[in-house]
Amino acid sequence: MLVIRSKVLGYCNGVSRVIEMAQQCIDLAKEKGVAAYTIGWFIHNPNVVARFEEQGMLLIHSPKGVSPGVALIRAHGIPDTLRLEFEEAHFTLIDGTCGTVAYSQQLIRNAKDNQQVIIIGLKNHSEVVGLSGVLNSKGTIVPTIVVEGEEDLASIEHDSKKELLVVVQTTYDADIYAHLLGLLQETYKDRIVIANRLCPSTKRRHDSLLNLMNIVDAILVVGGKKSANTAALARVVEDGGLPVWHIEDKREIPQEIYRYEKVGVTAGTSTPEEDIRAIIDILEERDR
Ligand code: SF4
Repeated sequence: MLVIRSKVLGYCNGVSRVIEMAQQCIDLAKEKGVAAYTIGWFIHNPNVVARFEEQGMLLIHSPKGVSPGVALIRAHGIPDTLRLEFEEAHFTLIDGTCGTVAYSQQLIRNAKDNQQVIIIGLKNHSEVVGLSGVLNSKGTIVPTIVVEGEEDLASIEHDSKKELLVVVQTTYDADIYAHLLGLLQETYKDRIVIANRLCPSTKRRHDSLLNLMNIVDAILVVGGKKSANTAALARVVEDGGLPVWHIEDKREIPQEIYRYEKVGVTAGTSTPEEDIRAIIDILEERDR
């Protein structure tokens, strides 16, 4: 079996940064003699998360019911209202919000009065939850409408005086985004203002995967089952008609993969290099 790695795979800059900050969070908490927390898991990869849990990092979703400590804000960000709650409860916050996500939050913060903010993305994705809770300079939440699929378009009010400021979840599926944006443009024409774009890191990963699909017989996509960008990679392969398995780590390597001569490997933005390497080693080892 020939195993071919995708040219772009694994950690993006935002994830590498938040992992470093998670360690800083633990170190600072130790120094201060308080607990280290993460506000929601900072990345969608259970193996990475387990390493920090072992060092004592605790998962919380709000400051209620726990003693103040050092808390990490995940790469996808949190709503401003939640950030305020932590500050008021005297937590020390370490902000791991990825710069690309922080930029999207800022665009919403600066939305004009004549603009209706439309967020295209997964309703329950933590980035979208954060984008839906942005406070403006007056301290009020900027109203937003989340559009995940065509069925949500009907919830947009037809106010002909308003522009639609469209903000996309940075890791949303590129094809679904293009489709929904096309529908919005058909209806609202020049009233659409496209605010941001998909994360270039995600796009590079997709483009590299498309190249890989031309030269292999089957693909393993490595990453957390809850990772939206990893699931999107698996969908790209599925749509392209190649056999694909989305696995979290080496324990899930499917036996069927050994039927194929050329196997491609790609991984989501929150998958550590050691997990990718371990899988490739097993595939190559079996072939010797
Ligand atoms: S995928 Fe892009 S937006 Fe998301 S954390 Fe990585 S660099 Fe930031």
